[in-house]
Amino acid sequence: MQNLTNISVVKDILSRHGFTFSKSLGQNFIVNPSVCPRIAEEGGASSGTGVIEIGTGVGVLTTDLAKRADKVVAIEIDDRLIPVLSETLSDFDNVKIINEDVLKVDLNKVIEEEFQGMDVYVCANLPYYITSPIIMSLLESRLNIRAITVMVQKEAATRLTAELGTRDVGAVTVAVRYYSEPKLLFNVSRGSFMPSPNVDSAVIRLDIKNEKKVDDEKHFFKVVRAAFSQRRKTLSNSLSSGLSMDKKVITEAIKSAGLPESIRPEQLSMEDFINIAESVRKI
Ligand code: SAM
Repeated sequence: MQNLTNISVVKDILSRHGFTFSKSLGQNFIVNPSVCPRIAEEGGASSGTGVIEIGTGVGVLTTDLAKRADKVVAIEIDDRLIPVLSETLSDFDNVKIINEDVLKVDLNKVIEEEFQGMDVYVCANLPYYITSPIIMSLLESRLNIRAITVMVQKEAATRLTAELGTRDVGAVTVAVRYYSEPKLLFNVSRGSFMPSPNVDSAVIRLDIKNEKKVDDEKHFFKVVRAAFSQRRKTLSNSLSSGLSMDKKVITEAIKSAGLPESIRPEQLSMEDFINIAESVRKI
């Protein structure tokens, strides 16, 4: 088995396949040997489990997942990497590669067809240009999975794992807290990648919660997005502009949710967001 954290080995494989890195696909491959075993272990890959990986690169994390889980389905958009993976993953018979954009794959179908009887986890070193769309799509599809463990840019990790009521909160934080229990696992320095990005990274784990807190989730998230549509503005200003509604009416809705009219969205708890969405719905 090739050592995929050895830079000369990886360079040799890639050059034999005529592969050059694509910045626009977020291709920064892990070369620090301690990172992938940790993602695999803390991400839940073990006997009896199935893992979905997003973005394989040369297969460095795929290898650590395949050593531990019963089955890995890895989704990679770049077709230039498919022959590379045939070489690097040739020792494993429990890995299936899907050469597709993850946002176009029906993951519910993948889980049903590929992971019968297994607990399913998602693990990835995400392409940074679409971190939030991928995480949102995984959460909103209400996949039958236990947890999502992903490496993201450090600033994104801070936002995704922030406590509600703090200044780092954004609409995506509320969504993450609604669907899951987020946790920051560990930081990863920029030198752990080839090529090295300009920012440091962190690995987070989102443990999926299955309960539904509101009847109309579509309306709830419309209100949440509107609440954060204007950074550093009061909730009443953001909501009236984001929902195109009269400010006086919005102010009344905020008061009837038991909140002061000068409140800012960063100060709200989950309960407050639920109450606000309900009073806006009643307008
Ligand atoms: N897992 C590898 C590692 O850790 O070394 C590669 C991680 S690299 C940050 C992100 C990978 O995601 C790249 O291989 C890239 O081609 C792939 N990718 C980018 N956009 C994608 C998409 N929309 N769907 C699936 N894979 C994608």
